[in-house]
Amino acid sequence: MIDIIKTVSLSGSGTNKWKFSGDKSGWKRIAVRVELDQRGIDLDTLLCPICNDAVELVDHAIYSCKSAKDIWIGIFKWWNLPFPSGATIDELINGTCFTTSNTNKRKVWQAIMWVTCYMIWKNRNLKVFKNDSWATPKIICEIQVKSFEWIQNRSRKPASTWQQWLMGTNALDSTFDPG
Ligand SMILES: [Zn+2]
Repeated sequence: MIDIIKTVSLSGSGTNKWKFSGDKSGWKRIAVRVELDQRGIDLDTLLCPICNDAVELVDHAIYSCKSAKDIWIGIFKWWNLPFPSGATIDELINGTCFTTSNTNKRKVWQAIMWVTCYMIWKNRNLKVFKNDSWATPKIICEIQVKSFEWIQNRSRKPASTWQQWLMGTNALDSTFDPG
């Protein structure tokens, strides 16, 4: 999982770069509007560029925003898991709400959590800088593709097929060993 975290980075201008590192709290320093404001950068608004309904804190941008939440709910649905509506973003990322004794599944799940954060932030930036529209099904599909690439690159045994992957957690019982 650390590998994928190191390889993903966000394009954007100047302060908008965000690279995952092994530091689990690194994602909290992404350049949301409130953060930029605190760094002395003059902005027209601190409101979330997706919903325009709340100030853009990290937690809002990645998780609490209605648009982001729809993505998370979609990811949990893909894996046939009930969405833990009371969970914090940290609990999601650290996988504490995903209880399984299967280490492989845990690793894969955690990677999916990171990819989800990354894709939400990437699409937020596409909206802000390129005026792209926010399309929940498209973003969920991107997360499935990116995490599938990860599983294929990391698996020591034959990994699941794309069709199996789309079925979610059931595909991983015996076929996958991420090492
Ligand atoms: Zn929002």
